[in-house]
Amino acid sequence: MKKIWPCRYRRNTIFANVFCELRHLATRQQFSTTSNQAVKLRVAVVGSGPAGFYAAYRILEKAPPGIATVDMYEKLPVPYGLARFGVAPDHPEVKNCQEKFEEVAQSPYFTFVGNTMVGAQPLAVPKQTPSFTPNHVPLSLLRNHYDAIVLSYGADSDKDLSSSVSGLNLAGVYSARAFVGWYNGHPEFRDLDPDVLAGEQAVVVGHGNVALDVARILLTDVDALRKTDITEAALAKLSENKVKRVRIVGRRGPAQASFTNKEVRELMMLNGVGFIPLDEEVLSPFLVNSAKLARTTKRLLQLLQKGSTTPAADAKKHFSFDFLLSPASFEALEGSSHVASAKFDVMELQGDILSKDTRVKRTGEVSELPCSVGFMSVGYKTHPLAGLEDIYNDSANRLNNEAGKVTSDGMDTKGLYSAGWIKRGPAGVIAETMYDSFETAAVILDDFEVGAIGGRSCEGWEGVRADLGDKLDWKVVSWSDWQKIDKAEKERGSKIGKEREKFTNQNDMLAVLE
Ligand code: FAD
Ligand code: NAP
Repeated sequence: MKKIWPCRYRRNTIFANVFCELRHLATRQQFSTTSNQAVKLRVAVVGSGPAGFYAAYRILEKAPPGIATVDMYEKLPVPYGLARFGVAPDHPEVKNCQEKFEEVAQSPYFTFVGNTMVGAQPLAVPKQTPSFTPNHVPLSLLRNHYDAIVLSYGADSDKDLSSSVSGLNLAGVYSARAFVGWYNGHPEFRDLDPDVLAGEQAVVVGHGNVALDVARILLTDVDALRKTDITEAALAKLSENKVKRVRIVGRRGPAQASFTNKEVRELMMLNGVGFIPLDEEVLSPFLVNSAKLARTTKRLLQLLQKGSTTPAADAKKHFSFDFLLSPASFEALEGSSHVASAKFDVMELQGDILSKDTRVKRTGEVSELPCSVGFMSVGYKTHPLAGLEDIYNDSANRLNNEAGKVTSDGMDTKGLYSAGWIKRGPAGVIAETMYDSFETAAVILDDFEVGAIGGRSCEGWEGVRADLGDKLDWKVVSWSDWQKIDKAEKERGSKIGKEREKFTNQNDMLAVLE
């Protein structure tokens, strides 16, 4: 990896001298053990998604060689977070970021601590207590052994609408997060078995890009997915998929949708799939031709106006965008526990129909749509790790922070930083995540430069491991272990003409290492 001596280190002569000396020392020791004496900044990264990897990359790239080490903790035996378990299988080019992450992991100053979750109860909790989960490391233990901790553990639950939407527990209603996790082979969702055989009518609630991923997977000819890394179980199920009509339903108008043009264009171009044209009432010439529209919004509206490559009349499957409908309930027929329809409150825009931020209010009308399978795609939800409750902002859906530095009125937050979705809320593509991780890395290095962190004698993962002692009774997955799992997945895939066939449970992943 290219190492740069940042100009700002040269600005301060005292620092420059110290760093020059350390760099000289470190260069000589570069390929020896990472617990060498030159290391002055020990960083733990919690989570191996894009945010964690880009933060690690930037710290190792910008810090003088050998000054910093990064130990990355990941709860699963496999890395990459949503770059593996979120990004759709028909978007392989997006997963190319994994090549950069692989490069980061080759650094002699990087250690992967996989299959190890951060954020447990105190170690004092006896093992026999049922709630004790063995492969947990308390955050407090990490704080003893690192100068800086980058919290980049993403968002691992759904925005909960159960207080305002009833029937979410009916058979045939799923969270989009679970569905996406299922077709991407996330161990948590391997048994989801979504009921796409119950009928032809799917409803996807939400107008974000996850909703479009769900719709595209439901509508795509399954043969087009066979060579991707979608799981065999998902392929088998989707090959029986009966869905012929997908309604993608949002509570606001077309100018307020959060999906992006590229993803809409992709849906419009699906082979044999027709878009049901929008009424003029929704997509009026006034709206589309308004000079006040932002350029990307104007382009989006033009795409919606143009419609699909396959005309609706010639298509075997169809989709629509339904606007100004806020979810109220999923309903079953009498005597059944399976969803049959979805009810929505009809909304109207309050104010400027061209603005992205315009809110809606209820009109008092209700609309009911047929629904044999439903998906809630209304966004992800983050949570605080145990001990971080006081610095978590529930309504903002993220940790309190300034440019990545965790902030608090009362709690000691020295050395705590955040990156990615837990830093700014669960929104943004990988490029945005990369830039905000770079911002966090810069803040850490600045704090190190001014002496706010670093310079204590701490041991990183070696120290954590020593303190865990015989409580460390689980298999810690190293980077070379992951490479074996990776190789095994690729071999499984090549036998059936696919890029890879993922293992979908931890035991199968770990069995490769036996
Ligand atoms: P994550 O990627 O979620 O990574 C968090 C990691 O932390 C995970 O590996 C998790 O297992 C681990 N973890 C969680 N808790 C702990 C713990 N306590 N201890 C240790 N480890 C823990 N962006 C694009 O640019 N293009 C796309 O096509 C695209 N598709 C997407 C599809 C979906 C369905 C979703 C949801 C998002 C998509 N994105 C896409 C956005 C992109 O995935 C995010 O910007 C990015 O993944 C956020 O990175 P992150 O590291 O903050 O979180
Ligand atoms: P999102 O973009 O925030 O969309 C969430 C949708 O849910 C919005 O339409 C929102 O409507 C709606 N919603 C939220 N609360 C609601 C409520 N109470 N009632 C009704 N509707 C509600 O989130 P996402 O789709 O989960 O995507 C997350 C991020 O990942 C996004 O940044 C996305 O771009 C990214 N991603 C990218 C790709 C890609 O690049 N191909 C693919 C997938 C995901 P309002 O706007 O009215 O709140």
